[in-house]
Amino acid sequence: MKTIQHWIDGAATFGASTRTAPVWNPATGERQADVLLAEPSAVDAAVAAAARAFESWGDSSLTKRTRVLFSLRELLARHEDEMARIIAAEHGKVVDDARGEIVRGREVVEYACGIVSALKGGYSDQISTGVDSFDFRQPLGVVAGITPFNFPIMVPLWMHPIAIACGNTFVLKPSERDPSVSNLVARLYADAGLPDGVFNVVHGDRTAVDALLDHGDVEAVSFVGSTPIARYVHERGTASGKRVQALGGAKNHAVVMPDADLEFAADHLTAAAFGSAGQRCMAISVAVAVGEAADALVPVLADKAKAVRVGPGQDPSNEMGPVITAQARDRVAGFVTSGEEQGAVVVVDGRDLRVEGHEEGFFVGPSVLDGVTPDMDVYREEVFGPLLVIVRAADLDEAIALVNANPYGNGTAIFTSDGEAARRFQRRVTVGMIGVNVPIPVPMAHYSFGGWKDSLFGGNHIHGPEGVRFYTRAKVVTSRWPHVGRSVEAAFNFPTHG
Ligand code: NAD
Repeated sequence: MKTIQHWIDGAATFGASTRTAPVWNPATGERQADVLLAEPSAVDAAVAAAARAFESWGDSSLTKRTRVLFSLRELLARHEDEMARIIAAEHGKVVDDARGEIVRGREVVEYACGIVSALKGGYSDQISTGVDSFDFRQPLGVVAGITPFNFPIMVPLWMHPIAIACGNTFVLKPSERDPSVSNLVARLYADAGLPDGVFNVVHGDRTAVDALLDHGDVEAVSFVGSTPIARYVHERGTASGKRVQALGGAKNHAVVMPDADLEFAADHLTAAAFGSAGQRCMAISVAVAVGEAADALVPVLADKAKAVRVGPGQDPSNEMGPVITAQARDRVAGFVTSGEEQGAVVVVDGRDLRVEGHEEGFFVGPSVLDGVTPDMDVYREEVFGPLLVIVRAADLDEAIALVNANPYGNGTAIFTSDGEAARRFQRRVTVGMIGVNVPIPVPMAHYSFGGWKDSLFGGNHIHGPEGVRFYTRAKVVTSRWPHVGRSVEAAFNFPTHG
């Protein structure tokens, strides 16, 4: 059985780790590898390597940093096929979907290639008599990223290219469920000319996460994952004096107005609910059908959900693969049952799906539940699987109130042909990312990504301009160069400007 190692200081290493976790092939149910689970000593080694590397990387020119990032961008493009296959094999998503996350992640590298612009400060000549002021931003030092299974390359790419472009060094603790692509990225960074120790990968579980959160030499932590762990990471990381941004879970609502193009809305809802088997933090898991939209929408959605082609992600004819583990499969099926028991109507039932030749795979089919109400478990919990619930609302204001009452606030969308309704929606919802006739409004890299409420703990959204702010701190210089021999009077009162 292959053992997936850490990547520390420019080389693959066991880092004295002996514990391992299985890495499954979700399409077959087979264990395909083991991944090391770091003890604190491996985390210490990675942080020490990163701290050493920071001494020169933190002082390197922006030109040198961007040269590495331009090369990395080319290498990510060249290795796209290989990476997509690795992701599909460990995560289960279809290869084209894996390609999608690679491309979206690469866009962050492209943004980071423009770090010279993103880091530009301001300069005020003669802000006071004979005095100029300017500001600039400097890197923090060693920063860490802790990432979820569902986007094994894109979510880490939201973090490290920007952190590294800003002059930090990085320790990544990826999900232990699909760890391999992170090691390939480490190799590509090395091929791109990144000095050893600037980017390190430590595999592991809570032990590794705690070691990073408590480490005195880690200045900042970016986390993406479920809400309970995000809250924990934020509390523990900030308690030890770190800057922390912790992105949590989601329950994304799409509001469908009666004036929407229902065929268009149903197509997009189906793709947004069942793409990647619903395992996207921006997946639509609740359709809010407004007024008479409901009766028209449900049968169209049902037909489309039944038509989704489910099978192994390696087969390009499939649209949806398995979920990540056997437990995840059973959990999704359990939510269909609990919804049914609590009074919902099962319009499409994915519980009994069997994929021929892949009977041991972690497959569960698309399910659609109608007549769902906010008190049901299937509405209250993040299911994170191919399950779409339909809630009915009388009008737009009721739909907005429903979205706002939900503790999550990651993404939401409205389908409508009425500009006033769209504008009212985008201004009133307490959600970080909003789509108007766009079901998965993941911001492009030049904007930042982040939710509100229980979907984000900490002040900064991730990547884009907010990422640059997160990974740097500001300095403001006030300078005076008096003429030699022409003195400037010193004042005992607090200096005012004249
Ligand atoms: P998870 O919270 O189980 O794991 C995320 C990371 O935390 C992993 O690296 C994992 O090893 C680590 N971890 C797990 N348990 C831990 C513990 N007890 N203590 C310390 N660390 C722990 O999440 P997941 O199942 O890998 O990913 C799915 C979740 O991530 C969903 O809730 C999804 O909504 C969320 N997600 C959110 C976003 C976003 O941008 N808001 C993006 C992607 C995924």
